[in-house]
Amino acid sequence: MSTTTAPYHLMNNYARWPVHLVKGEGNKVWDESGKEYLDFISGIAVTSLGHVPAKVAKKLHEQVDTLWHCSNLFHIPQQEVLAQKLSQVSGLDRALFCNSGAEANEGLIKLARRYAQKVKGTECYEIITFGQSFHGRTLATLTATGQEKVKDGFTPLPEGFVTVPYNDLDAVKQAVNEKTCAILLELVQGEGGVHSAEEPFVKGLRQLCDQHGLLLLIDEVQTGIGRTGTWFAFQQYEILPDAISLAKGLGSGFPIGAILATEEAAQAFSPGTHGTTFGGNPLAMAAGIATVETIEEDGLLSRVNQLNELLVSRLQQLKTAHPEKVVEIRGKGLLLGMKLSIPAAGVLDYAREKGVLVLLAGPQVIRMLPSFVTTEDEIERVVAVLDEALQKG
Ligand SMILES: *Cc1c(COP(=O)(O)O)cnc(C)c1O
Repeated sequence: MSTTTAPYHLMNNYARWPVHLVKGEGNKVWDESGKEYLDFISGIAVTSLGHVPAKVAKKLHEQVDTLWHCSNLFHIPQQEVLAQKLSQVSGLDRALFCNSGAEANEGLIKLARRYAQKVKGTECYEIITFGQSFHGRTLATLTATGQEKVKDGFTPLPEGFVTVPYNDLDAVKQAVNEKTCAILLELVQGEGGVHSAEEPFVKGLRQLCDQHGLLLLIDEVQTGIGRTGTWFAFQQYEILPDAISLAKGLGSGFPIGAILATEEAAQAFSPGTHGTTFGGNPLAMAAGIATVETIEEDGLLSRVNQLNELLVSRLQQLKTAHPEKVVEIRGKGLLLGMKLSIPAAGVLDYAREKGVLVLLAGPQVIRMLPSFVTTEDEIERVVAVLDEALQKG
C-alpha cells in the first residue's frame, strides 16, 4: 500500500495515504488538488450520514451559538434527550457519555469490575475477550484487544484479561472461573477482518453469563447506530446484553462515545466513581441527537438493508468473475469485507487512483463502510472499479 511519513512536527504514528483531504459533501471528498473521491470508508464507520449532513450541521450551528461546554457539574438537558432516545432504541436503561470508542470500552471495563466487586468481592475482575478483536488503544483496551501488534512495546499491561478464540463457546466455558466478571466482544469484528459472531455462540454466551452472574458486554463502537442494518448488532441475535459501548457513528463525525447499560449493571457507578470533563457536552449531544433523529426520520435503517442487498449481490458477482482472487464476501449491513487470496493493498491503491476510497481489514481483506445515503449508482461505480482492479491485480 502506498503510504507516506509524517510531516516533521507530527508524531509518526500513522502510515498515511498520499492524499490531503480538504472538503467533504455527501459521499464525496476532495483533496488539495481538487481531485474528487467517492468515499466508501466514511472516516472508518463514522460519517454514516455522509459528509456534512444538513440536519446535523443545522443543530450544531444552533448549539455553537448557544452553549459549548459547562462540565458535568451541571445538569445538561441534551444528555437526557439523547439518553432517552438511545434507551428507547436499545432497550437498555441508562447512558453515560464520553468522547471515544476506547474511552467507552474503558467505561465498560470499569463498570464490570465495580459491579462484580460489589456483588462478589475484589477477587472477581477477569474479563474474557477474543482473538482478532479490537477494543482501542488505551492500556486496558489494547490489553483486551486480541491482536499482538497493538501491544508491542507497552508492557507491563494491566492484569485481568483472558483471550480465547472467537466463535468457540467451549473455549469460553473452559476460561470461566471464580475470577471471571464479564465477557467482552464485537458481533462483527471490524478491524480484525470483518468476521461475524455466530448466533448459537452469542446465545450461548448470554446463557453462560446468566448461569455465572457475569456481565455480557458488547463493543458496538463500529457496529452500532445502524451500521449493520439494525440500531445495534445485538438486535440480530435475540439477546439483551448487560452493557454496550458506542462511538464512531453516533456523532456523524463530532467526537462522542457512550456506554448504555441495564438498570442493574448501571448501579455499579455512583457519584465520584467515573467521569470525564468533556463527555456529554452540549455540542456533542447536539450532534448525537441530530444523528439519531435523522436515521429515524429518513428511514435509514431500511435503506442500509436495501443497500446491503445490492452491494452484497454485486460483490458476489465479482467473486464469480474472479474465483481465483475473491475468496469470500462477509459482514453485515454496510460493514462488509471482501476476502482475497492476493494482497488487498494493490486493489486499494488502484481504487484510490481511480477516485474510489475503500479500506483494509487485515492484509487480504477489502473493507467497505459506505454511508447510509449511498446511491445505487455509487455502488455500481465502486464495484466496476474493484472489478478493474481485480483484473489487473
Ligand atoms: C474504532 C474502534 C474502537 C476504538 O475507538 P476509538 O474512538 O478509536 O478509541 C473500539 N472498538 C471497536 C470495535 C472499534 O471499531
